[in-house]
Amino acid sequence: MRMPLVIGNWKMHGTLGEARVLATALRDGLKRPRGVEVVCCPPFTALAAVAEILGAGPIQLGAQTCHHEAAGAHTGEVSPAMLADLGCRFVLLGHSERRRELGESDGLINRKVGAALAHKLTPVLCVGESAEERRQGLTFTTVEGQLRAGLAGLAGDTLGRIVLAYEPVWAIGTGVTATPGQAAEVHGYLRGLLSELASKEAAQKTRILYGGSVSADNADALVAEPEIDGALVGGAALNAQGFIAIVRKAARVGAAAKE
Ligand code: PEP
Repeated sequence: MRMPLVIGNWKMHGTLGEARVLATALRDGLKRPRGVEVVCCPPFTALAAVAEILGAGPIQLGAQTCHHEAAGAHTGEVSPAMLADLGCRFVLLGHSERRRELGESDGLINRKVGAALAHKLTPVLCVGESAEERRQGLTFTTVEGQLRAGLAGLAGDTLGRIVLAYEPVWAIGTGVTATPGQAAEVHGYLRGLLSELASKEAAQKTRILYGGSVSADNADALVAEPEIDGALVGGAALNAQGFIAIVRKAARVGAAAKE
């Protein structure tokens, strides 16, 4: 059985003080989460402070992106080695906001995935179609292209170490969520592709998260789908109680559905 995973993406929100308050509330509210793995991804500026607050507790630390080199003349960038040194275990890569706003290409994302793996970080590779692509019936073509390019050249045995996030662009930050059926259909397709690219065993082990306007109100229906192994949560991750409610639902519903 795949352990449900819930990741909070804080995006570009919060002063250091606000990040400390949020991290403290999460640490105190999720002392012993059972049957679920929890990760929070604060902005770079708050990583060290949040790492200190979370300490050796069960909530793990992640970053929202990284550079593809370990070090060098790359002004403004943060390397996977630096993230690992801070205690990060996960890194989001290929988020649609970075693809769209910063022009991150599949090739660049592929290099980042390789670099993250080389530094023992778990890459969370985000894929998803735009509203227009869905309208044109190109959902599978789009996510397949992103997945194949994002994982190109990586050794088959490393593919089992990644997490995938299906995040339809039209659902991110819009309040419109994919239906559990729509999400499960794409997750199943992605798992089939992973089977082909890596192995059936690796594909069965890989967690595929859904992201896009997940809230405490819709989390249960989504994670109840056997193909949906948890959630990548943006806006709702900024509210400690709301995020904790999502984590608890993922733990309960996810475990029950996948027994
Ligand atoms: C995200 O940032 O990955 C995301 C899914 O955001 P939201 O939950 O706000 O739609």
